[in-house]
Amino acid sequence: GATIGILGGGQLGRMLSVAASRLGFKTHIFEPSANPPAADVAHQVTTASYENADALAAFAASVDVITYEFENIPTSALDVLEQHKPIRPGREALRISQDRLTEKTFLQDLGLKTAPFADISDQASLDAAIETIGAASILKTRRFGYDGKGQARIKAREDAAQALSEMAGAPALLEGFVTFSHEISVIAARGISGEIACFDPGENIHRDGILHTTTVPARLSAGQRMDAVLMAGKILNALEYVGVLGVELFVTPQGLVVNEIAPRVHNSGHWTQNGCAVDQFEQHIRAVAGWGLGDGQRHSDVVMENLIGNDMERVASLAAERNTALHLYGKAEAKPGRKMGHVNRVQQPQS
Ligand code: ATP
Ligand code: MG
Ligand code: MG
Repeated sequence: GATIGILGGGQLGRMLSVAASRLGFKTHIFEPSANPPAADVAHQVTTASYENADALAAFAASVDVITYEFENIPTSALDVLEQHKPIRPGREALRISQDRLTEKTFLQDLGLKTAPFADISDQASLDAAIETIGAASILKTRRFGYDGKGQARIKAREDAAQALSEMAGAPALLEGFVTFSHEISVIAARGISGEIACFDPGENIHRDGILHTTTVPARLSAGQRMDAVLMAGKILNALEYVGVLGVELFVTPQGLVVNEIAPRVHNSGHWTQNGCAVDQFEQHIRAVAGWGLGDGQRHSDVVMENLIGNDMERVASLAAERNTALHLYGKAEAKPGRKMGHVNRVQQPQS
């Protein structure tokens, strides 16, 4: 059987490995830190830095195709890897999504609605941006932000200096604050032949900047649901994408606004494990392996809840709940803010 190389050994790499294994593939994980969650379930693990060109080349030589669970793979590592094996999704998706400025510009050029934004390098550019965008805004680092990290909310002009100092000199982006009724995401897939399949949009609630729950079906009109799926399809085609992509959207009275995209399986797609015959992990493996996409139709209503830090104390009671599937990542230490697992509460569909 073929071997799928996965960059990153976190919970997403772990669940990708399980899905690959179920389809008869072997997986080889590349991960700098020792004993990552994916190591328990992968066929092979390389523990090495992304600076180590020899280790990268040996990893690439041992696999048939390379995919990843996170978007911040150094360009130099991709340069080495692509000489040996195909990287799917491709490098354009990574280039676009590694930098919020590039990403927002790409989305806007596609004709999709985003928050108004401006590139910020210093106090003068921030003052000028607030002048045009307005004071109600969020300053975000252009690179490496996740779970709401590297963001500062600005409510009034006076907050600007403090917000800028929180960026610690990193290049930043100012985004106008979008007044939304709720947040949704579309988990979408594109196969090697260009076919597209989208999972039903999920409705997301965040707590302390971290995804707390995803509920399907989301509160959307038929028209909004159609828009969401068409927007995701447009992004996939523009990138000639192969694999699963997460698209986060704000629902507003003026229509759907794209917040950000993630070129990988996505936390807000975990509900698919118990709501669909083929979940996002299998869909991603199918796509990168060059198979046809599977049937991602939703057969049940699901509420996914993340288990973070000491939520692990509730595991025994969660394990006793009816119609509830527990997914744990095997992480040793339950630090505050660390994603330890999730539960999918499943119901017969209401719609
Ligand atoms: P993730 O963990 O999803 O990658 P992130 O750190 O990249 O998160 P964002 O998704 O950009 O951060 O923002 C986190 C949350 O902050 C959003 O889900 C939304 O609730 C809120 N938010 C972000 N940008 C805006 C905006 N322009 N207007 C209003 N709310 C926003
Ligand atoms: Mg993000
Ligand atoms: Mg986000």
